[in-house]
Amino acid sequence: VTAGEGYLVELSPGLISDAPGLAGRLSALLGLTDPSVRAVIVTDSNVGPLYAGKVEAALEATRPGASAGVITIPAGEESKTPLELVRVLEAMASLRLTRKDAVIALGGGVVGDLAGLAAALYMRGIRCLQMPTSLLAMVDSSVGGKTAVDLEAGKNLMGVFSQPVGVLIDPEVLRTLPAREISCGWGEIIKYAGLDGDVLAAVRTELGPCRSGIAPLPSVGLIARSIDVKRRIVSEDEKESGARRLLNLGHTAGHAVETASRYALSHGASVAIGMHILTKALVKEGKLPRAMLEDLEELLRQAGLPSSIPPELLARADLDFSIDALLAVASHDKKSAGSGVNLVLPIAPGRAEVRKVSWEDFRAMLET
Ligand code: NAD
Ligand code: ZN
Repeated sequence: VTAGEGYLVELSPGLISDAPGLAGRLSALLGLTDPSVRAVIVTDSNVGPLYAGKVEAALEATRPGASAGVITIPAGEESKTPLELVRVLEAMASLRLTRKDAVIALGGGVVGDLAGLAAALYMRGIRCLQMPTSLLAMVDSSVGGKTAVDLEAGKNLMGVFSQPVGVLIDPEVLRTLPAREISCGWGEIIKYAGLDGDVLAAVRTELGPCRSGIAPLPSVGLIARSIDVKRRIVSEDEKESGARRLLNLGHTAGHAVETASRYALSHGASVAIGMHILTKALVKEGKLPRAMLEDLEELLRQAGLPSSIPPELLARADLDFSIDALLAVASHDKKSAGSGVNLVLPIAPGRAEVRKVSWEDFRAMLET
């Protein structure tokens, strides 16, 4: 359990299957002893059939009628749209939710981002409890208060900052998460390893025995450490001006590659490639020891993540991974800054810093 920063993040293996335990947490966090308060579960078509019934049963165990129902969106990033957002809002309205009621976002980052935004908008804002079920959502998206849906022009362009009332995590649910999604979450954990020596040491220990390239599940301790790094950085800077930029390690080049792949590359794989591009360029310039690149490559391989754009994607005639195409995406990125780009550069194992880099220098890095 980590507290502070206004809301509670609880990491508790088995919580979702422990009906009385979950009921107690939900009741305390959402004030369900008040008979006029209800909670609606927002989930997706994969997670809902597995876990929504358990959460709903726990709600009903606090007080019959405490559940306002379950709203299910189709699984996948394709659902993170203004249209789906409005559908969820209309469903909330037809359940006659009031200002006192709350949303429980039960799912991966797509559900967390969309349900978080729906809660922030419904009646000018009702409470939201995050229950992340993917590794990426546990270590990254559920913490920090960013909510959004995508626009045609790009990802996450429509959203608000809105903090949840709490984050409840049951790492046991990772047992049903597909391997590709586990690797994807490792991409963000390896990013935290680039920012924090303790996470780096734990990542080495846990991925070390992995020879198959099929990522193991991270330990509960490593999930907790990753969340702590994110919370520490976010609490210094909720609105992303200074310190929070560190969390973009691997994300500028990564986002460019992800967009250029038309999302054939997962987010975690893209971040992995982004980190590799920067590290490789810095090694080539003599600014980092070669061992740091080899170490990163080893960790990525063990986590089942690529170091560079896979040949089968490079071969696709409908995709453009040219430097110009990547720079075009990066220059439209909301993280870019006019005359140059704010890059997070690794400076030592477990340490990185934000530097403003000119477009010419960024081009040179992409070329290496
Ligand atoms: P996702 O929500 O699409 O989940 C990945 C897949 O796993 C989905 O098919 C989902 O149904 C399934 N799934 C989730 N939990 C499961 C479980 N326990 N068992 C079986 N299947 C399960 O994607 P994601 O990777 O969780 O999140 C990606 C999204 O998060 C992106 O839209 C991204 O923009 C957003 N994001 C937001 C932030 C933020 O700060 N708000 C940060 C990073 C990413
Ligand atoms: Zn990310």
